[in-house]
Amino acid sequence: MRFFLILLVAVVNIASADHHGDHKALGAHVHGHMSFSVAVDGNTVGLELDGPSEGILGFEHAPKSAAERKIWEDFEKKWKEEVIALFALSKELGCVQEKDAQAKLEVEGKHADLEAQASLKCAQSPSGTKAQLLMLKSYKGLKELEVNVLTDKGATKTILKGNAKVEIQL
Ligand SMILES: [Zn+2]
Repeated sequence: MRFFLILLVAVVNIASADHHGDHKALGAHVHGHMSFSVAVDGNTVGLELDGPSEGILGFEHAPKSAAERKIWEDFEKKWKEEVIALFALSKELGCVQEKDAQAKLEVEGKHADLEAQASLKCAQSPSGTKAQLLMLKSYKGLKELEVNVLTDKGATKTILKGNAKVEIQL
C-alpha cells in the first residue's frame, strides 16, 4: 500500500508543474489547503492527509495549552479510530479501519504540516464506487482540498472547495 501512495504522490507532483522549484521542507505550504490521497488496491484502501496543520487544528506548533492538546487528541482519535467519519464508503462494502493509522506534526520554524496515514480493509473492493468526503465539512479552517485518487481504473486529481459534503468517484 505504501508503494501505491508514493507512486501516486510522484505522479501528482509531476503533474503540478506550478510547484516546480519549491524545495522547502514542508513543500507547498498554503494555509487552508491540504491534500488528501486515496489509493485503492484490491480490498485495501490507503488514505493520506498532508498540509498546513492550521486548517484542521487552528495552530502550527506542538500543542502547548490544555485546549490545544484537546484539539490534537480529538483529531488523532478521529483519524486513528473513526476515519470513516471523514471518508465514508458505501456500507455494503464492509470496510473496517485497520489499526495502523498514524498522525504527526512536522514543525518547521513558525509553520507545521499535519501528516497522517490510515488504511481500511473492505469485504468488497471500493474501486468503481463513490465515497463521501467530509473533511471540508468537519474542519472549517480547511478551505480547499486537493484530492488524489488512484485505483485500478487510473489516477485522478480534483480540487474541492467550500464546506459541503462531497462525493468522489473511486
Ligand atoms: Zn503555516
